[in-house]
Amino acid sequence: AKVGGRSQIRFFDPSMTRDLTHRRKIETELRLALSRDELSVYFQPIVDLETGRIRCFEALVRWFHPTKGEIPPDQFIPIAEECGAIATLGNWLTGEAARTAAKWPDDIRLAVNLSPTQIKAPGAALGILRAIRDAGLAPERLELEITENLFLEDSPDIALFIADLSRAGVRFALDDFGIGYSSLGYINQWPFSKIKVDRSFVSGAQAGRKSDAIIRAVSQMGQTLGIEIVAEGLETIEQVEAVQSAGCTLGQGYHFSRAVPAYQAALLLAEDRAT
Ligand code: C2E
Ligand code: CA
Ligand code: CA
Ligand code: CA
Repeated sequence: AKVGGRSQIRFFDPSMTRDLTHRRKIETELRLALSRDELSVYFQPIVDLETGRIRCFEALVRWFHPTKGEIPPDQFIPIAEECGAIATLGNWLTGEAARTAAKWPDDIRLAVNLSPTQIKAPGAALGILRAIRDAGLAPERLELEITENLFLEDSPDIALFIADLSRAGVRFALDDFGIGYSSLGYINQWPFSKIKVDRSFVSGAQAGRKSDAIIRAVSQMGQTLGIEIVAEGLETIEQVEAVQSAGCTLGQGYHFSRAVPAYQAALLLAEDRAT
């Protein structure tokens, strides 16, 4: 049976993550999860709003626990970051996702989320390049999604990491734009090829004229700087039309597709090519 609502997952209630013994339990379970094959990678399409065609898939990790059901990434990624398991998880996910993406047409990119702690690990850039090389995915087809949290501490490791990967052809996307400090300095300083506007600016009743104006301004900036703007969390055709008329060129959200397993991603691509 499919385990639905996130509220059902009491064991992983975020308020409990402060409890050390509880956290240890998740840590242990998480380390086991990799060896037990409980983790998988799902893929959510990022679509060209003009043509409706798929341009990219974002890899999103999924944990199907044998007794607790599906555990959302928001509840275990932060713990994996704290306990250091994120390095193992991230390396595994990058390899797994890249092996899938290597089978797609050459013009379809793969986007992978990176945690700040993952980047700080020694040899992180090399690890990523090795993982995609082994999988047969060209670096130009990889896009790493990072959030501005990464830049809060001005670490030289981060500059090196980004420089090394950019030189190899890997692209960077600024994720969850608009909800943090959103310093335009980050956009000025780092070579982003995409900015993903957080879903709070498109979804829900609170999204209105103000959100539209923000998306319009970001899109205009993107156009001037040659950075593509992605609207996240598009659930309805109205939202799609709103962000498109505000100048957004790419979109992602349940309106197009949820994150799906690899075989379904391949089907979506085949459908896309057939029309
Ligand atoms: P994110 O990177 O902002 O990913 C987008 C999240 O929004 C995903 O949730 C996706 O399923 C969800 N989403 C997409 N379209 C819609 C929509 O139309 N409506 C709504 N309500 N939601 C939508 P998910 O998969 O639960 O991931 C949550 C967060 O967990 C991600 O946010 C990312 O920060 C983190 N995460 C997920 N997978 C990974 C991973 O492999 N590595 C790392 N480091 N973080 C990950
Ligand atoms: Ca993301
Ligand atoms: Ca996001
Ligand atoms: Ca997020």
